[in-house]
Amino acid sequence: TYFTNAKFQMSAPDISHLHQDDGIEVAFAGRSNAGKSSALNTLTRQKNLARTSKTPGRTQMINVFELDEQRRLVDLPGYGFAQVPLAMKKKWQKSLGEYLQKRKTLQGLVVLMDIRHPFKDLDQELIHWAVSANLPVLALLTKSDKLKAGKRKAQLLMAREAALAFCGDVTVHTFSSLNRQGLPELEQVLSTWLQL
Ligand code: GDP
Repeated sequence: TYFTNAKFQMSAPDISHLHQDDGIEVAFAGRSNAGKSSALNTLTRQKNLARTSKTPGRTQMINVFELDEQRRLVDLPGYGFAQVPLAMKKKWQKSLGEYLQKRKTLQGLVVLMDIRHPFKDLDQELIHWAVSANLPVLALLTKSDKLKAGKRKAQLLMAREAALAFCGDVTVHTFSSLNRQGLPELEQVLSTWLQL
């Protein structure tokens, strides 16, 4: 698929260091350990594009992967680690808010959440920001292989119900990096956003 073209372009310590605001991009965000790196690797069919199993609390970079000259995937640092100092959290939240509000190239936000506990506070906050910036959101319920079919379906329906509360363009799908469940749906949403 098109996503196999992904190539590492750059790492940035924060949003102000990103390249000029042209072309189009979609961003990936989620609590640490939500399965974001695994999902990016699955999407791009590359084992080590995004690095999995990072050290908890380590300062993380924003990683940019280029699909072609005009299109990029942006891997935002995982959030939600208790060990991160409050001042750093605040700084990060501010710059993330600004990124969602001001980045003209941004076409949509994928928020990855473990299917067993979706929509934690920070996830909700992020989705609210995206919705208020008129950005479409894909809420991706990860590690779907951890639940049996019945429970998985129930979680999906519950999450879709919860997503209505954001009063925005919030789509919900389940996903597994282990067995690639939901990969076509993810690709479909991204293709629309990236105008592929
Ligand atoms: P990140 O911190 O959000 O980038 O999360 P990672 O991709 O590093 O994954 C965190 C942990 O969850 C790792 O131990 C992965 O092996 C595991 N994991 C990620 N995706 C899946 C999945 O789809 N199914 C299962 N069973 N485990 C997963």
